[in-house]
Amino acid sequence: MLVREKIVFTGADIVTLSEKLPHAQAVCVSNGRIDCVGSESEILNYAKMGNYRVVQLQRGTLYPGFIDTHSHLSMYSNCLDQVYCGSELGSIAAIQEEISKKILTTPEGEWIIGYGYDDSAIQDNRHMDKQDLDIISTKHPILISHISNHMGYVNTLGLNLLNFTSKTKIPGGKVVLDEHGDPTGFILENALVSAFGKLPPLTEEKIKENITRAIADYNKNGITTFQDGAIGFNGNPSAIIRAYTSLDRERKMNARGYLHFIPDIMEQLVQFGLWKFGSDYLTFGGVKYFTDGSIQGFTAALKDGYYSRPNFKGALLYSQKEIENLISKYHSMGIQVAVHTNGDAASEAVISSFESAIKKYGTKELHHMLIHAQMVSDAQLERMKTCGITPSFFSRHIEVWGDRHYSTFIGPQRTARMNPAGSCVRLQIPFSLHVDTPVLPVTVLGSMHAAVNRISNGGRLLGENQRISPRQALEAYTVHAASCCGGENDRGKIEPGRLADFVLLDKNIEKTDPLKLRDVQVKMTICGGNIVFQRKDSQ
Ligand SMILES: [Zn+2]
Repeated sequence: MLVREKIVFTGADIVTLSEKLPHAQAVCVSNGRIDCVGSESEILNYAKMGNYRVVQLQRGTLYPGFIDTHSHLSMYSNCLDQVYCGSELGSIAAIQEEISKKILTTPEGEWIIGYGYDDSAIQDNRHMDKQDLDIISTKHPILISHISNHMGYVNTLGLNLLNFTSKTKIPGGKVVLDEHGDPTGFILENALVSAFGKLPPLTEEKIKENITRAIADYNKNGITTFQDGAIGFNGNPSAIIRAYTSLDRERKMNARGYLHFIPDIMEQLVQFGLWKFGSDYLTFGGVKYFTDGSIQGFTAALKDGYYSRPNFKGALLYSQKEIENLISKYHSMGIQVAVHTNGDAASEAVISSFESAIKKYGTKELHHMLIHAQMVSDAQLERMKTCGITPSFFSRHIEVWGDRHYSTFIGPQRTARMNPAGSCVRLQIPFSLHVDTPVLPVTVLGSMHAAVNRISNGGRLLGENQRISPRQALEAYTVHAASCCGGENDRGKIEPGRLADFVLLDKNIEKTDPLKLRDVQVKMTICGGNIVFQRKDSQ
């Protein structure tokens, strides 16, 4: 192998998260991997045996690069050209105004796409319908997705172009009809997936450009590995996969992608033997699918009724048998399965399916995941531990939606143990954290802050027993997250032989006031020994 120059990173405290040498002063890197870690003099003596250069980090704390274990980078990359319709706008009128601005610069007939609409967080406190969007334009088809990505809104022209009529039947989805039997413009679950699938595709060059912009945003937050959850859920999956593989071939990936595919797409990859396929920068990972919707959309499957609707428990998207068959199928093939569950009934259906798959085919180290698992009980967590399933919790949920979970969706008791990271610590279960971008803006320190403090936007402490320490939050984004991406041996710690992925923070997060965790700054992000992000004022 061609031996390139060695690079010595020094001038910061190095927290390695390795038991062998927890703290160090310098790290030497070559060919994108770590050669050695130690004191500055030791490392410089080693580097001097060949060509080398030194990068002075100028204070701060160097950690292993952060690993995102659930978000939708390609979907987020699409949003970069879409209209933000989130709760910060405050009302439907303000959202209509934002969409109108986009219409001014969009030729007639071209789709206007919006994202992030949150019915219960704006003053109107309702879903939109086609009339809300027809007022803005009857010449542009409009599709707005809900913040949960489990529902959306379409105007009349859009419904016509999608061919969504009173007779449309979509398995696992719904085109909602009014009392006259006409579509209202409100579409649910797989109807939204189908709508995205029918949109005119972006060119591959445009997708590559958007993915590169999105990766730069992740790098700004210290992320060096990301999961792209559920490719095929929306957009054009083959173009997205081609864009990723092309960026990888051109060595233009500034973070390492770990792709999850919906079952339909995985089915095609399996035919070509392409799962676990990839490079240091891109891995075709596991299969990802949904078993329920969202708690705040009343579409999560709960064991007991919703707080404000005690007789309503939501429902599973598939039957127990279908869930078992799917999990069993991929488990038997040695493919990682990551399952979206929000309600405790959905988690139950999935955990028992993993139990029967493991009973039938034996335990394999497949790093199965429950994505969100917001309402899992301690008993369910113990069964997950036996199956080797890692939960990934949506930490900022408690901050952003916690007050509404408390008062409306699931009530005080169940809200206090949502996203039970504290239980995982007590039961010694590895877990990871995520913010599900584009559902919430990409952030690692904001996510750690939420898991450590559990304070809602309304200022309420929600579940003090489920708080975790900054160190545990750090491990959730490094060592534990690594195994969710098949990287338990080559990322998540600063050790010889591992990938040279680091993040430099301006402070040591274990020595920072927990209430100021989200103010800690990322000064630099290094992926494969290359500086992929550097704060302007940090040199
Ligand atoms: Zn997601």
